[in-house]
Amino acid sequence: MNTFLVTFVIVLTLVTLLMLEPPNDQDFMREALRQAQKAREAGEVPVGAVVVLAGKIIGRAHNQVELLKDATAHAEMLALTQTQAAVGDWRLTECDLYVTKEPCAMCAGALVHTRIRRVIFGCTDPVAGAAGSVINLLQMPALNHRCDIAPGVLQGECAAILQDFFRSRRDEQTENPKSETRN
Ligand SMILES: [Zn+2]
Repeated sequence: MNTFLVTFVIVLTLVTLLMLEPPNDQDFMREALRQAQKAREAGEVPVGAVVVLAGKIIGRAHNQVELLKDATAHAEMLALTQTQAAVGDWRLTECDLYVTKEPCAMCAGALVHTRIRRVIFGCTDPVAGAAGSVINLLQMPALNHRCDIAPGVLQGECAAILQDFFRSRRDEQTENPKSETRN
């Protein structure tokens, strides 16, 4: 067989293998980032989440606190509710949740209640993070369920969208100090 043909077959095999490769943590975090972008466009604090079961996204949501006027409408909470409806069970023991920012205490509590298998997050939240920053509710020995944690996936992009949002909100408030301030 000539060398060109051998090279061609090898390259074709490699390309096929790459295309067949299952999505990884970064791919799912990109989807969560798309959700965060939707929040941003809606004027919400840009956090997004997706829930994955057997390699497929079955829940996706973004923060909707302002729209719903509901302090519990965090991306994780909405994604969990959606997922429970999709699987017809509150036990999500085979599901993994991807979220752009470290979950707060409320969301971490819900993740333990729904028995999520793995929690993958982007940037940490030193002020309110309940996956290790302020407290680690996801892995409390005394609770009946513990989640595996994978921090820092696409950390830079996840932090940037938040920093950008808060920076432009500060700028707006400096230019127009009488405008309503929320959060
Ligand atoms: Zn939360």
